[in-house]
Parts: sequence; structure tokens; C-alpha cells
Amino acid sequence: MNTKTQDAVRKDWDTYFMDIAYMVSTRSRCPRRHVGAVLVQGKKLLGTAYNGAPMGVQDCLEAGCMISEELEVKLVDGKEELVKKQRCIRTIHAEQNLLLFTDRADREGSTVYVTDQPCWTCANMLANSGIVEIVYHRAYPKDSDKVVRLMEQKGIVFRRLDPYEPPAGAHMEVTT
Ligand SMILES: [Zn+2]
Ligand SMILES: [Zn+2]
Repeated sequence: MNTKTQDAVRKDWDTYFMDIAYMVSTRSRCPRRHVGAVLVQGKKLLGTAYNGAPMGVQDCLEAGCMISEELEVKLVDGKEELVKKQRCIRTIHAEQNLLLFTDRADREGSTVYVTDQPCWTCANMLANSGIVEIVYHRAYPKDSDKVVRLMEQKGIVFRRLDPYEPPAGAHMEVTT
């Protein structure tokens, strides 16, 4: 292979780390959504995490998802309406597990690659974690406005990787 062809097939760093996040997400056992997150300092991988129940307790495949119903404000024909939404609360979100399994010193100035746009709680925690950049792939519109505002206030780079094609074998179905 000549150098030009090699460059064409060689993954750029964003794709490389997002691919790893998707590979990590295949460990998830919540059928509603498989999320993976990785911590990167420079070009060095410092941690990986996915959404799951605490270690040593039954997970979603063993005990079923733990469904909680919440009311959400949604715009319907330009009017705000309260709609019922279900979510699984058995799992610790990937971003939160990433914070549980990495050191503060490692996080200072680093980047999080995460398969899904963080929810409000995860974004709020990441905003206080020392990281300076979040790169995600799948959009999560529910909390987007307030999360984007928060990141602006914190000066955290917040960007969607697009275009991007997840690696084969990733679980792409999402229950919302
Ligand atoms: Zn679940
Ligand atoms: Zn979250």
C-alpha cells in the first residue's frame, strides 16, 4: 500500500476514540440504550466506562430494566405540553461510571468521548470534573438546550462528531 492509500484508510483521532467508545458500549446490559465513554488526555486513553448496574448486583438482563415514569415538558405544535416518559434507572450512566473510575488529576484538561449526548445530570457532573472537552455522536435532544448553555458558561468545548459511522457490531437501537 502506498502512503496515500494508507492515509485514506487510516482513522483520524476523533473516529479512533469514538470507535473505542462504541466498542466499550457493547459491554452494556441495559437493552434500552448502550452507552460508552472514554477519557482521553492528549492522545492517551485514560479510562473507559459504560452504563450499567453497580458491580455485584443484578443487571437489566437479569432483573429487567427498572422503569421510572417521569413527566417531561415537550413542545407540541409550538405549545409546551407535559408528556409521560419512561426511563431505566437501574444503570449508572457511562459518564458517571467514568468519573467513578478515573482520577481527578488525570481528568484535568482532558477530553471525554461518549457515544450519546450527555443527559443533564451527567453534563452537570462532567462540568465539575476537570475535563475541557466533550465529543458525542448520537443526539439526545431532551436536555440539549440547558446542557449547551452550561458548557458555554463553563467554556467546555461541546461538539457532535458528524459525519461519523459507528463500527459494525455496535448496538444502535435506542428506546426513548
Ligand atoms: Zn435498563
Ligand atoms: Zn446521563
